[in-house]
Amino acid sequence: MRLWIRAAAVRRRVICLWLLLLGFALISLALSDLFNQSQDQSHQNPGPPRRPLLQRIPSAPDLEIIVNSWDPALELGVDVAPLESLQEDQLLYVPSSQSTKSPLQRKGSYKVILPGVSKEPVTPAPRTQGEKKITERPPLKDRETALELSVVQKFGFNEVVSERISLHRTLPDARHPECLGEQYSESLPSASVIICFHDEAWSTLLRTVHSVLDTAPKQYLQEVLLVDDLSTHGHLKSVLTEYVSHLDRVRLIRSTKRLGVGGCRSLGATEAAGEVLVFMDSHCECQKGWLEPLLERVAQDRTRVVSPIMDVIDWQTFQYNATQWPVRGVFDWRLDFHWESNFQVQRKDADSAVLPVMSPALGGGVVVIDRHFYHSVGGYDPGMLLWGGEQIELSIRVWSCGGSMEVVPCSHVAHVDHHQLPYHFPDQEVLQRNKIRIADIWMDAYRKIFYRRDTLAHFIRQSESPNITECLHLKRSLGCRNFHWYLTTVYPQLYIPQDRPSLSGELYNVGTGSCADLPRVQGLQGAAMNVAPCSGTGSQHCDLNADSEVRWGPMGALCLDKEGERVVVSLCTKQRPTNSRLQWKFIKLSGQLVHQQSQLCVEAVKEGEIPQSSTGGLFLRPCTHHPRQQWHFEQLVAPKGA
Ligand code: UDP
Ligand code: MN
Repeated sequence: MRLWIRAAAVRRRVICLWLLLLGFALISLALSDLFNQSQDQSHQNPGPPRRPLLQRIPSAPDLEIIVNSWDPALELGVDVAPLESLQEDQLLYVPSSQSTKSPLQRKGSYKVILPGVSKEPVTPAPRTQGEKKITERPPLKDRETALELSVVQKFGFNEVVSERISLHRTLPDARHPECLGEQYSESLPSASVIICFHDEAWSTLLRTVHSVLDTAPKQYLQEVLLVDDLSTHGHLKSVLTEYVSHLDRVRLIRSTKRLGVGGCRSLGATEAAGEVLVFMDSHCECQKGWLEPLLERVAQDRTRVVSPIMDVIDWQTFQYNATQWPVRGVFDWRLDFHWESNFQVQRKDADSAVLPVMSPALGGGVVVIDRHFYHSVGGYDPGMLLWGGEQIELSIRVWSCGGSMEVVPCSHVAHVDHHQLPYHFPDQEVLQRNKIRIADIWMDAYRKIFYRRDTLAHFIRQSESPNITECLHLKRSLGCRNFHWYLTTVYPQLYIPQDRPSLSGELYNVGTGSCADLPRVQGLQGAAMNVAPCSGTGSQHCDLNADSEVRWGPMGALCLDKEGERVVVSLCTKQRPTNSRLQWKFIKLSGQLVHQQSQLCVEAVKEGEIPQSSTGGLFLRPCTHHPRQQWHFEQLVAPKGA
């Protein structure tokens, strides 16, 4: 009996042991599975190309990440100790991601972040004009390159080069000889030059100020108003205050909130005492004689808003490049601004070199406007966030509400075009939100054309409505004209897309699974069309119109054309009926896109796909039912949408 009991106990123990082992095995199996799974996920094939912007981008990263990524030393792994921009202000004030929603919500949403460097207050040595010390030890060549790279990331241009250039350099005179003989009125209105800045580099900011002081006649220069839009860089704090205190007519105002370009300029406008406001970017250089012709035009008609010819300072070399006349400001259906040079100037007489041209829009670099007129049209839209689109909004506002705009050829100001944009705001959707305001306030039914070409804006608009009540109220009370008037009277050259359902959108090719695309690297005229992954952003939108043209690009100014067997783009013409070489027919049933003149079909070839043609592209071939000749116009935004 006892023996039996002992045997049973041993058996029980063995069973327990087995059960225990089995448990272990199961647990380790489950664990290894989990591990493998997570590994798999990280190495997973991304699958067919996603349409990234059809989904909302996740909200802005955490504040700490933003601060770290701003530090060039951390990003590039190089020691940039000499560029201690934080030496005075060890605290960085970074707006939280909510702060971009509305200026009102911003209150209290700033977070104080310690960048993890010494907190002892450092008094920086005062700088003398034109020589800011940037290195403590002689840098090696590669060290210098890394430094320049990090500086470019920080400012959007090569500040190392800019530092070496005098704050008082004189630009070569690019004016037409006839400008030198121009006479201006003796009593021009006074001007307040308003220079807003947010974390501008020292050298470019001070060169802007000095170039105004060196070129503007004293009798017309009321003041230079420097408006600090909550900069964080140490060199823009007490050193700048001290520096500016020695300059005649220069006042420094500091905002306690981040206002953005428009808001900051409006603050300057309320502080300004001059009759005329000159809004100027914080990285400009004025040419001799730039101010008088601008003031003259405004004095003659107070509703005229004017701009000089904006020359270009290279972001890398700081070389000056004069802009060719004639030039005027325009924007496209994605609401991006451009300076346009190849347009028809009405007058061809001898005066054309000195006479201003009317301009559908003006860039933000330098805008000159009568102070009363500015306030009477409501100034920059106070609902615009940080940066982007404000110059287009002001342009439509000025034109629609009784003013006009022009570029004045005898006035030149140079502007540093940034290498990368935008570099000073964390939220990628800011620009789209500003564009949504323009579309909803000013464009009436034409806004649909915009939303089809900017699908990110469309999706943002679907989930939130901008607060534009006050703007619409002002628009009504001022009796501003509608966008149809603007398009027909001010900017009749802008092609108005027809965007017919199933004849416009992304041109999707069944055989390659890609979309018709115009590679960016090429010059536009005669550039060859190709296929590329469908972007889903609206950037590949095209429109087969009632004139049988396939219009391409955000201005719709390019037409699908033929060069040999290749499909290319060329500038569309006004000629009616349309040149038969530019006429196309879309057969919905077969998906064939037929070149009318040759009766050949458009076939998509991916690079290296077919042995006989190494380069990819769109080719005209005898019509077949091959999937490479099958196309769909895919509308990304429903015709009634937005
Ligand atoms: N700016 C500002 N607050 C901002 C963003 C920009 O005051 O939130 C200033 C900036 O320093 C510059 C002007 O506004 O003087 C226009 O900005 P930027 O030059 O970056 O625009 P871009 O010329 O590149 O279009
Ligand atoms: Mn600028």
